[in-house]
Amino acid sequence: MAEELDPFKIAQEQLDEAASIMKLDKEAHAILREPKRVLVMSIPVRMGNGHTQVFTGFRVRYNDARGPAKGGIRFHPQESLSTVKALAAWMTWKCSLADIPFGGGKGGVICDTKKMSDKEVEALSRAYVRALGTDMGPEVDVPAPDVYTNPQIMAWMLDEYMNIARKSEFGAITGKPVEVWGSAGRMDSTARGGMYVMREAAKMLKINPRRATIAVQGFGNAGRYAYTLSREIMGSKVVAISDSEGGVYDPDGLDLAKLDEAKKRTGTVQGYKSKKAKKISNEELLELKVDILIPAAIENQVRADNADRINCKLLLELANGPVTPEATKILFEKKILDLPDFLVNSGGVIGSYYEWVQNITGDYWDTDLFYAKLDKKITKSFNATIAMQKEYAAKGEKINPRMAAYIIAVERVAKAMKARGWY
Ligand code: GLU
Repeated sequence: MAEELDPFKIAQEQLDEAASIMKLDKEAHAILREPKRVLVMSIPVRMGNGHTQVFTGFRVRYNDARGPAKGGIRFHPQESLSTVKALAAWMTWKCSLADIPFGGGKGGVICDTKKMSDKEVEALSRAYVRALGTDMGPEVDVPAPDVYTNPQIMAWMLDEYMNIARKSEFGAITGKPVEVWGSAGRMDSTARGGMYVMREAAKMLKINPRRATIAVQGFGNAGRYAYTLSREIMGSKVVAISDSEGGVYDPDGLDLAKLDEAKKRTGTVQGYKSKKAKKISNEELLELKVDILIPAAIENQVRADNADRINCKLLLELANGPVTPEATKILFEKKILDLPDFLVNSGGVIGSYYEWVQNITGDYWDTDLFYAKLDKKITKSFNATIAMQKEYAAKGEKINPRMAAYIIAVERVAKAMKARGWY
């Protein structure tokens, strides 16, 4: 039978597995298997040519037992309701594992921003917020950037929201530019959090980060900063990186200035030039023999059909959903430490939480304080995950890190629902 690749079915399958391991109450399980609320919006936008184009947008509030829904908005040509539902579920577990006072949500629009002008992207961003209306807000549902959205888009969205709300509520959206009270440190916090996890995992596996080789799939916010920070924080060598067009491999390590130059000149990192540089496909990148593999692009990259060829010691899921359930099992059997997305990339939403706190209190921090708090928080999640794995191992049950993290996250949400009388 072909492997299930529908993202929401995967999210449900993961929850079902965790529920059975932790013997979750049946009623809590039933509530957590479905999103609390799904919005599908048709969004008309007047395009540059004067014609109106109708876009389809989604916003899913998966669960808000522990606080307002929280999660990014993706602008992607292949966006689907199933993906947004899955990502909203994963946000619920992410916020819970990080132990921050948010539930989970996610948004998306089916669109190709590469074929749109800045003015059209702005018009779409504003129209998306008008369609949401008061279904967002600092105490309701708080969006942030994700694939193909960025701080500028957040600023346009916030401006539109504040016009609707007729209030100056900067905490309604996070991941904003610092000029409109985005937080110092938020820009690279997804990758930075991932690097703190990498540091702890390398320590545990006795990998010397200074000698480690790394391959990164993706050159967006997460991938590009994973590249720079792995060098800055750990002194590691990134030997391969890719974007949606494909990747480049150089055993001597890649140079950022040259990568940026290649991207600017040719539209892809594949235009990179050096003595030993070799063009590779995204699939080849995943199968390189490296110490650490960091998928930092999109979901379903490591699957049943290629998991066996993954050749690293540590796999850090910086993207959302890059490893399927079948692949998770194969990697576990191969003794590759595969750390789950909602732990590894939680630095993004932890950073968003700090931004929201600063917006609400009006007390602004410097990057040192931000980084120190982020480090402490994400390291705590990593330790809790490993401790949960050990707790089960002591009972004679071998569970993978994803399941360990699920158990922690689901238990917290279930307890909040119980206290609130939902079941
Ligand atoms: N889009 C990021 C994620 O998937 C950040 C979400 C947020 O900050 O709300 O975790």
